[in-house]
Amino acid sequence: MLFPTTRLSRLRANKNLRAMVRQTTVTVSDLVMPMFIHHGHDIKNPIPSMPGIYQMSIDHACDHAAELYEKGIRSVLLFGIPAKKDELGSDSLSDEGIIQTALRRLKKEVPGLTYMTDVCFCEYTSHGHCGVMVKRDGQMILDHDATLGNLRRQAISHVQAGSDMLAPSGMIDGGVGAIREALEAESFGHVPIMSYSAKYASAFYGPFRDAAGGAPAFGDRRSHQMDPGNSDEAVLEASQDIAEGADIVMVKPALAYLDIISRLKTNFDVPVAAYNVSGEYSMIKAAAAHGWLDERAVIIETLTAIKRAGADIIISYHTAEAASWLK
Ligand SMILES: [Zn+2]
Repeated sequence: MLFPTTRLSRLRANKNLRAMVRQTTVTVSDLVMPMFIHHGHDIKNPIPSMPGIYQMSIDHACDHAAELYEKGIRSVLLFGIPAKKDELGSDSLSDEGIIQTALRRLKKEVPGLTYMTDVCFCEYTSHGHCGVMVKRDGQMILDHDATLGNLRRQAISHVQAGSDMLAPSGMIDGGVGAIREALEAESFGHVPIMSYSAKYASAFYGPFRDAAGGAPAFGDRRSHQMDPGNSDEAVLEASQDIAEGADIVMVKPALAYLDIISRLKTNFDVPVAAYNVSGEYSMIKAAAAHGWLDERAVIIETLTAIKRAGADIIISYHTAEAASWLK
């Protein structure tokens, strides 16, 4: 007996046709590799909860960046781990800071990459919060004006050191506007801002805290990160960031928030980035290490789902390994 033919079965008739009608294909140009730049020399610290990912001193980071470039990767997102943390996060503002120093070297050694830089304070402050803290009525709170002032300084110093795109991750009210204003004032108006517009208070960030060493010493960041139960808020935050001068809006994490990626994509005419975070990476790695999942297939499926949901840019720790499979 013959199978009944339907339009769908005709469209799936052979592999060339299936490839032609496929709507979503992840390519290496969609992907951004995060890098953790550690102070010092000849340091390559594996991150136990993120197999295959390292904190690297600038010398190793340069080698790694060259390898990424060889694989066809064209963009990285830099996070800094400074030698010294203090109340203000001074390293983040200094021309001799870890990110500024790394940028100058990386731009010289691997000029073909686009360097995005994380703009925030939590990796640089002794208390681990995303700005300047003050005591009011016996409680430590964020000094908003002082934080915006430092955010401007940090942004300018990154751009002066060679940053191609700023990625403010703190979700500080008015932060994108402050950075955009500072860029305009210093004739850096051409520099794009990728804002962490919909950054959820997520348990999927766990392994990142190992990687960047940034758990707050007191309190938490839930006051400025979004409640996983909310989605309207993501639209509001994104529209505010776009009005303030963001060029790209980001959703973080990705997998548990595919609906948010999709909503931002349909609501706004700007590119949407998705951050496929540390916990999402570690889950696959852990299952694959047990032989419970086909690692490669699951990674490609994951990246495809994030793109299908509407992400134009995917920041993922899988970038380096996926690049060779996607060629
Ligand atoms: Zn932060």
